[in-house]
Amino acid sequence: MDASAKRDVTVIGAGIVGTVCASYLLREGHNVTLIDERDPGEMTSFGNTGGISPASVVPIAMPGMVKDVPKWLLDPYGPLFVNWSYLPHCLPWLVKFLRAGSKTRIGGISRALAALNMPTFDAYRPLLRDAGLEHLFHQTGQLFIYRSEAGFKKDRLSIELKRATGVRVDILNADDIRQLEPNLARDFVKAHYIEAHGHCKNPGGLVKGLAGHFARSGGSLVRDKVLGIETGNDAATTLVTASGRRNADLIVLAAGIWSKPLVEQLGYRVPLETQRGYHVTLPDPKTGPRRMVLSVQDKVAITPMEMGLRIAGTVELAGIDAPPNYARARKLLEIGQTVFPGLQSDGFTEWMGHRPCTPDSLPVLGFGPRQRNVLFAFGHGHQGLLGAAKTGQVIAELASGRPPSIDLAPYSIERFA
Ligand SMILES: Cc1cc2nc3c(=O)[nH]c(=O)nc-3n(C[C@H](O)[C@H](O)[C@H](O)COP(=O)(O)OP(=O)(O)OC[C@H]3O[C@@H](n4cnc5c(N)ncnc54)[C@H](O)[C@@H]3O)c2cc1C
Repeated sequence: MDASAKRDVTVIGAGIVGTVCASYLLREGHNVTLIDERDPGEMTSFGNTGGISPASVVPIAMPGMVKDVPKWLLDPYGPLFVNWSYLPHCLPWLVKFLRAGSKTRIGGISRALAALNMPTFDAYRPLLRDAGLEHLFHQTGQLFIYRSEAGFKKDRLSIELKRATGVRVDILNADDIRQLEPNLARDFVKAHYIEAHGHCKNPGGLVKGLAGHFARSGGSLVRDKVLGIETGNDAATTLVTASGRRNADLIVLAAGIWSKPLVEQLGYRVPLETQRGYHVTLPDPKTGPRRMVLSVQDKVAITPMEMGLRIAGTVELAGIDAPPNYARARKLLEIGQTVFPGLQSDGFTEWMGHRPCTPDSLPVLGFGPRQRNVLFAFGHGHQGLLGAAKTGQVIAELASGRPPSIDLAPYSIERFA
């Protein structure tokens, strides 16, 4: 790289998104500092289900969902629960979310998800190779199972959107399902199977491994809390941290759900809401799947991992500060045991994390109109592991002054203005 094009870049947040951005920026030859108040990969990126699903282009809000709202409000252990006391706070977001699920909008959202998610395996490959982490990725397919024909039919639009990407989607009957996953309960009558999908065997370990390689390769990994971003004219000037002040040449804001207060200091209002999710991990399950299995009507994902079997899911709208309700995690365990009878739970661990969600299921990426030296990379919602790799490439392209390799209009921060 020409020395004059080399930037001093500070990435805020060492989750999967910030760590991949920092890794790609370093590969481009920039001076990169990755700053986090904790060790890398300790928050949302620690406990996800590990799904890497290139054809996952289905928005979270879909047509017809509004009919389910009364049910959500009444079932404390259902797949989507809104805490009554939090409802007044999240209502404006919820309205925007349901509106984003209209028939007229989902096609465009789906195409934008495809641009980010389809290249995921290719975009991760150089980082995994350099860091010696290829063993963490398994492209062994994903199986989406249904308890009833009616449930399968209800999901038809999602399957159509996935097929529109050109990825092969096979429809399976009960016998095919059992051949693929012999330990599954006999209750499942239909499935769709995507061979091109896969999973990560240790999402938290992936972030730590990438961050370790980043530090060994000349990146600067700093443990500090960013308290504020000072601005002047059309630029950010200073990062105020718990331990002092830092000059801001170029900033990448990738702090997941915690990006919201920082972005507000920059003069933007972004509807970012935490969709809290839970997992249980069973260290010695005795039985289980060969690949990642998603029970669509239960809204539960089950993934074989290095540290055992992970069962994850649920969406809880209860805000960032409310304590976890681990009864929800134990409900996931209960459901998992109906999907794979005989699952042993001895020594299981439970966890809650904050999916950083915009109403339209798309992250915020790229420069905004207010500061010429702040790049946004947050709001990846349910798909941050999946979308991080292409996000990192795009952020590095923009930092280096090159045109981005995908159209960034759908991810613009100005869409919320
Ligand atoms: C139950 C569950 C299952 C999921 N399953 C999948 C899946 O299968 N596939 C998939 O692709 N995605 C999945 N996700 C979503 C995925 O985990 C998230 O989208 C992703 O982890 C978000 O990454 P991030 O780097 O943006 O945020 P985070 O991982 O939360 O990282 C943000 C970082 O910023 C740091 N930070 C915050 N504020 C500051 C500050 N002021 N100063 C310094 N540092 C700060 C935090 O300490 C943290 O390390 C799942 C999520 C959940 C909850």
